[in-house]
Amino acid sequence: MKYYILFGPPGAGKGTQATAMVEKYNLHHISTGALLRKEIAAGTELGRLAKGLIENGNLVPDEVVEGMIENEFNTVKGIDGFLLDGFPRTLPQAEALDNILKKSSEEVTATVSIMIPDEMIMERIKGRALKEGRADDASEDIINNRIATYHAQTEPLIDYYKSAGKYHEADGVGTIEEIRERIFSIMDKF
Ligand code: AMP
Repeated sequence: MKYYILFGPPGAGKGTQATAMVEKYNLHHISTGALLRKEIAAGTELGRLAKGLIENGNLVPDEVVEGMIENEFNTVKGIDGFLLDGFPRTLPQAEALDNILKKSSEEVTATVSIMIPDEMIMERIKGRALKEGRADDASEDIINNRIATYHAQTEPLIDYYKSAGKYHEADGVGTIEEIRERIFSIMDKF
């Protein structure tokens, strides 16, 4: 099984590119953000816990998302691998992922990072807000908090995966097709 991590700041275009990646490489897309939004919409206990955190641009507790990931690994069959989108987002989550995979003698295949400069993040998210109406895309304060959370908690993962020789970066500036081709040329190596 292949285990790809789709990495990048909020608004880099991970969700957009994920669709083409799962189709071409027969992967199952796991977006922890989308799974959490589904829980919120269904009004579950987990959804109620996540709602306030997400709508303020904060992360939900590591154990919550780790449980969701392990559940998907154990239940989805008939694919060549998984595409993790929005997970891991903290160092403890990255370590937990390694431990979950170790249980079945598996490991992360590669981290594919879509990188855009900070100045583009706000503009991209505002564009998405018009289309998708996400509550956490609604105000500049919340977006700024997500950018700060990304720099403080998620960016250190770049060095974590670089040290493991598993970090691959695609320039996220360009057309959707150009960025998709850059990503495919990375993934074709695995
Ligand atoms: P996303 O759709 O990936 O932008 O995620 C939306 C929100 O869901 C994030 O801003 C977090 O509040 C929460 N979330 C998604 N994935 C994670 C994660 N791996 N760890 C903690 N919180 C997460």
